[in-house]
Amino acid sequence: MSLCCTILPPFLKLLCSAFAGCYSWSKEKPRSKMSLPQDKKLPRQDLDTESYVEISPFETGRMKTACATLVEAAQGVSTATSWRFFLRHPKTGTNFWFDMGISHVRAENCWLYTSADTLQDLSVYPPSVQSLHKHFKPKPSQRSIEEDTRSLHIDPRSIKHIIISHGHWDHLHPLPSSFSNANMIVGAGSSSHCSPGFPRSPDSKFDGHIWDPELRSFPLLELPPLSSPLWKSLWPFSHAYDFFADGSFYLIDAPGHMVGNIAALARVKTKHGTWKWVLLGGDCAHCNLFTYWPGAPFGKMPKALFPSGSLHECGATARETIAKIAECKKNEGSDLFVWYAHGEILEGAWELRW
Ligand SMILES: [Zn+2]
Ligand SMILES: [Zn+2]
Repeated sequence: MSLCCTILPPFLKLLCSAFAGCYSWSKEKPRSKMSLPQDKKLPRQDLDTESYVEISPFETGRMKTACATLVEAAQGVSTATSWRFFLRHPKTGTNFWFDMGISHVRAENCWLYTSADTLQDLSVYPPSVQSLHKHFKPKPSQRSIEEDTRSLHIDPRSIKHIIISHGHWDHLHPLPSSFSNANMIVGAGSSSHCSPGFPRSPDSKFDGHIWDPELRSFPLLELPPLSSPLWKSLWPFSHAYDFFADGSFYLIDAPGHMVGNIAALARVKTKHGTWKWVLLGGDCAHCNLFTYWPGAPFGKMPKALFPSGSLHECGATARETIAKIAECKKNEGSDLFVWYAHGEILEGAWELRW
């Protein structure tokens, strides 16, 4: 089925009808170490033991680039992966992914591959993306998202959503046919920005097998525009979408890197039974340094490949998003882990149960 809509998906509509009733931060338990007013902290729901998500990170491939392309004057070479995150919302039994990372499969096998396939290259990507590969020298993922799903003893047919932080090639590719009940969810404005993609638009860096309704083989849903009342402010973020309407998983509008760019904020339980937040930052920043040095100068990219001269479509707006993430981290301290898609080490991972 090929479907793209800018209206609210029925699943989310259903959830959001209960939105107001579940948005009960007033029940938060005061914390003795809290020094900031509550409206400058993420929600505390210590008495709610049901509203959380479980999260499992998976490495996908490797990209190599000079550190100076990430942060000005940085020395050395970065070899970063592109993380994808499996998530489960126990309360509703919903299995879903945030980002897909780098593809692992050859173009000729794109629609037919099985878990047994070991053919790995990057020819599934449009020619314009492959020209970018001369810069990033990526290595394909050794496993497919389907194999990663099965490694958790999860049936791929049970996957309901694949939420994509943004449309760049290292975060999404066509869904495997075994994800037969899944839809892909993207940020507002993504479709018009990326459509129709290659091959209808021969020089496009976006794949028509995702963005072209004629070629797509799965439902693509777009989050509602920011003018929708379903977006609420969640300090310091001006637009947050309470995905399950229970405060366990928010999609965050995170402009600057690319049109439609989103991050996510997940409430997780540590192996010690305490509550933390994980911010899945996608490409809001490209290394952990920006969480702690939000004013660090962006690295330089060749303008032939990146017209803005940096990895962000709009550097000034991306800086504002980074500043919000940094402020959030500063206030939350060890109660918040910030995980970028290309971060080398996932901070605080040692506190979670895998
Ligand atoms: Zn990106
Ligand atoms: Zn990326």
